[in-house]
Amino acid sequence: MSYLTLKNINKIYPNGYHAVHDFNLSIEKGEFIVFVGPSGCGKSTTLRMIAGLEDISNGEFCINGKRANEMGPREREIAMVFQSYALYPQMTVFDNIAFGLTLQGVDEDIIEEKVKNTARILGLTDYLDRFPRALSGGQRQRVAIGRAIIRKVGVFLMDEPLSNLDAKQRVTMRSEIAQIHRNTGATTIYVTHDQTEAMTLADRIVVMKDGYVQQIGTPYELYYQPVNVFVAGFIGEPPMNFIKGTLKGGKISFGKNVLDVTKKLGDKAKKYEGKEIVFGFRPEAIELGKKDNAYQINAEVELTEMLGDNTNVYITAGDDKAILKVDPHDTPAVDSNIDFSIPLSEVYIFDGATEMVIK
Ligand code: ADP
Repeated sequence: MSYLTLKNINKIYPNGYHAVHDFNLSIEKGEFIVFVGPSGCGKSTTLRMIAGLEDISNGEFCINGKRANEMGPREREIAMVFQSYALYPQMTVFDNIAFGLTLQGVDEDIIEEKVKNTARILGLTDYLDRFPRALSGGQRQRVAIGRAIIRKVGVFLMDEPLSNLDAKQRVTMRSEIAQIHRNTGATTIYVTHDQTEAMTLADRIVVMKDGYVQQIGTPYELYYQPVNVFVAGFIGEPPMNFIKGTLKGGKISFGKNVLDVTKKLGDKAKKYEGKEIVFGFRPEAIELGKKDNAYQINAEVELTEMLGDNTNVYITAGDDKAILKVDPHDTPAVDSNIDFSIPLSEVYIFDGATEMVIK
């Protein structure tokens, strides 16, 4: 039996808006689950239904096999860290972390021990006497997490906890959240629109779009085995390149290059003759030059961006465009003409009508 199960969960808001459709997921104890997707896809709504802050319109949510739909937030033993980590400005870090326990009337000695323990996990030991105004954004966020983890709960819910931090702090805090998860082993559900956060933190990722789950899998599965165009394009930076075309004689064109789709699909290509398909490949999956067992492409270099560890090369072939990621030492000249190869194993073909991957 899984720790948390969501069975055909739906959310229809009072105004009639159907925000979440048939959400199904089982979560094991200790897992780090990330809900990711563009703004408005239903991530927070789903999280808030798990927290008990929003009614579940349809479907069943169970904790340890027991129906929890009607349980209040406290009864669910779930703690939530919100986007805006409103700390009490007139209280020290110690008092902010202790607040929930103080309210419950917990013994002072026990509070002291727990706060110190929590502060140690979060690296806040030296800051317990400070007030929030004397902390950096990252430290404030850690205090907010401290307030949540000091309560003995089974599940932590985090809704875009890093969105108020600058880019550098986000990266630091991201690894700290991973560390906190390793230290506490707590089951965590984390909401973000940022695919890098999802990829780096999650044991499993749930990709959502327009209220529907698109795919659930490990970061590896989502990157290497995307089920549709949306997931393929959402995971990875820069995103996967997509070349659309109508299959004629098993082929589509990429500028003046001919892509023989039967090389990848074999006989299955027949079924799509005369139909639209999408040919996908990742910027980083190419090799410069002409290689065997690969699609060989000739294209013009429009622009290059040297990023230090790699260079993004923007290419055009006729009306088609793509981005390639190359070693900075191999950066081609702008306006030059280059050959590159896409290994067959790195090519994804999607049905143009359903946008599902063709296996
Ligand atoms: P996300 O967290 O993925 O950005 P949300 O779960 O916040 O998305 O919202 C999902 C959709 O539900 C959005 O289109 C949003 O406008 C809508 N929505 C959110 N709250 C309400 C509400 N109280 N009433 C009606 N629609 C809502």
